[in-house]
Amino acid sequence: MYDLIIIGGGPAGLTAGLYSARARLNVLMLEKLAPGGQVMNTDWVENYPGFPDGISGFELVDRMKNQAEKFGLKIQSDEVAGLELSGDQKIVTTHKEKFETKSLIIATGATWKKLGIEGEESLAGKGISYCATCDGPFYKDQEVAVIGGGDTAVEEALFLTRFVTKVHHIHRRDSLRAIKLLQERAFAEEKISFIWDTIPLKILGKNGVEGVELKNVKTGEISRKAVQGVFIFVGNIPNTELVNGLLELNDNGFIVTDNNMETSIPGVFAAGDNRAKLFRQISTAVGEGAAASYTAERYLEGLDQ
Ligand code: NAP
Repeated sequence: MYDLIIIGGGPAGLTAGLYSARARLNVLMLEKLAPGGQVMNTDWVENYPGFPDGISGFELVDRMKNQAEKFGLKIQSDEVAGLELSGDQKIVTTHKEKFETKSLIIATGATWKKLGIEGEESLAGKGISYCATCDGPFYKDQEVAVIGGGDTAVEEALFLTRFVTKVHHIHRRDSLRAIKLLQERAFAEEKISFIWDTIPLKILGKNGVEGVELKNVKTGEISRKAVQGVFIFVGNIPNTELVNGLLELNDNGFIVTDNNMETSIPGVFAAGDNRAKLFRQISTAVGEGAAASYTAERYLEGLDQ
């Protein structure tokens, strides 16, 4: 029986793994793919302390993984299919195995939100993307649309200017949600032109994206913009299907915890982007991973007494 199983290998899970391995807990990390999480899709991270010149998202999580493994964290690639959380022994069932553990940290992160408009499903992989780092180079010398006004949309639009001739940046309001520094960069970039107060109604094209149909939400005017690619960055949804009905979730499906990362079930903790909170950063995920590990350790000590 494990002391602790960590589900999910993004910055929150890897930090929980590092702390737990150093605390000499018998700990296992289960990650359905390779460790990394959404940060792997981030070309360049500028606001993680300690890297004044920035670092690629890939390298940052690779370093986190190596650091955790150096202290003994065991990482297994396996997708968790079910959980039994009642009782002191928690059961984790994957597609291959069944594990018993005294405690659990759920660090399953979040995934991109879809727009749910016509053409989004049928043209998936044919000109629609949720990752500029992955797909940007395919659009060399072409025109693309970026949808969304948050940090991700603006960062990715800036990244896309390395390849494309034009980014038509479409946002449903007349001001961006992204931090001011990113806004300043985007407004100064000649290849980015903003289309304000506008939502996409349809993504157009048969065998590949040919354009977007747009609606100005203030005037009601419908228009079309010819583009070869559409990049959608309209926020995240939590990866919490696994604990739906088992743990308390908020209205948007994020896991509710206290300040010590304790969920509604004793011995089960949550950390990172799947947690109900205001601010989602690599630095906050890392802090929560450390806190969840510490609280799990205290919980395990309590079981022994
Ligand atoms: P976000 O902050 O939730 O922004 C989502 C954007 O999409 C908003 O501008 C929103 O418009 C728009 N939107 C949502 N639903 C829409 C719809 N149905 N149609 C059209 N537009 C829609 O998401 P995010 O940018 O992915 O960021 C997620 C979190 O990660 C944030 O906490 C962010 O700060 C953080 N992050 C940080 C960095 C960094 O520090 N470098 C980089 C990336 C992300 P409204 O503005 O009108 O709501």
